[in-house]
Amino acid sequence: MPTQPSNPDCIFCKIVAGDIPCHKLYEDELVLSFLDVSPLSRGHALVIPKGHWVTLDTVPDESAAAIGAVLPRISRAVCTATGVRDFNILQNNGRAAHQAVDHVHFHIIPKTGDAGLGIDWPAGSLDQDAAAELTEQVRSNL
Ligand SMILES: [Zn+2]
Repeated sequence: MPTQPSNPDCIFCKIVAGDIPCHKLYEDELVLSFLDVSPLSRGHALVIPKGHWVTLDTVPDESAAAIGAVLPRISRAVCTATGVRDFNILQNNGRAAHQAVDHVHFHIIPKTGDAGLGIDWPAGSLDQDAAAELTEQVRSNL
């Protein structure tokens, strides 16, 4: 496995290195999962690549695939352990999108009637012509 990038000032890199303790839920060669220290609900967990990448769009395919492979399993385990069936996966990129730690992380947040993620969802409507143009623009950048 290639050496994973690391940032000595990053709290998640320190957790990966074992310099800061965590309540570890899962670990493999590329991925670490642990309980969030500021949980929105009981069972709120984080899943991170071991390498230091700030935003999701910069994560290499191998690490992205490794995260995707274990997210459902860890989510299932959190739900079973907490007895909560509903949950959100949250992944923020950039300050405007509420990213607080500059190391890619996925939140698994169990949702009950009174605890979990609150979402404001000011939905608009999709203009068909604009959507067709945007679709082409995105597809040309894949
Ligand atoms: Zn880091």
